[in-house]
Amino acid sequence: MRIAEIFYSIQGEGSLIGVPSVFVRISGCNLRCAWCDTPYTSWKPEGEERDLEFILDRVGGFKARHVVVTGGEPMIAPEIVALTRRLHEYGRHITIETAGTVYAPVVCDLMSISPKLANSTPGGRWAAQHERVRFQPDVLRRLTEHYEYQLKFVVTNPEDLNEIHAIIEQLDADRGKVILMPEGVDASVLRERGIWLAEIAKCEGFRYSPRLQVDLWGNRRGV
Ligand code: SF4
Repeated sequence: MRIAEIFYSIQGEGSLIGVPSVFVRISGCNLRCAWCDTPYTSWKPEGEERDLEFILDRVGGFKARHVVVTGGEPMIAPEIVALTRRLHEYGRHITIETAGTVYAPVVCDLMSISPKLANSTPGGRWAAQHERVRFQPDVLRRLTEHYEYQLKFVVTNPEDLNEIHAIIEQLDADRGKVILMPEGVDASVLRERGIWLAEIAKCEGFRYSPRLQVDLWGNRRGV
């Protein structure tokens, strides 16, 4: 599969924030979010073709028990099931970061699902396909039924909450597993959005997540 990068860092988002983890970033995505923070896996996918042995060897070179399989959209990678099985055999805790548009019978300890809201739809020639694919309630239902999960929503403005409420209701999702995260790849934008979003999280009883990797290192690759 095509690998954009493999690196060791701390998880910067969601319920496992702060946990030292190896990140396996698979290149290729079926969506084209307007604000994609990893365009080198979607708009202009980069990376080398690597076999499972190479990936497992690199992951094994780090001490971390936690592995985050991310993208792009890792669930469309042809060998994603085999990769997760092998990581599981090696005793790793596996988080998969997905937009929840495709189902595959992966082995996974935490399905970190980030359904893409209308705020993600780009202009231009990708608009129609993105809009058609971005929300797949049947896939989301399967993922939330089969796996331990979190629902991580990327929020650009307070009105996004209407859409989030509708999705939670449609999925009959556990509100305790809902995480709100501000959109942005700049620490000052995240702080400005974080202030009002934290208030919304308090009112709703949802969890708030910063983007710690941006706060600590800025919008860089490999962190
Ligand atoms: S789903 Fe993720 S990787 Fe794909 S375009 Fe959206 S933000 Fe980028």
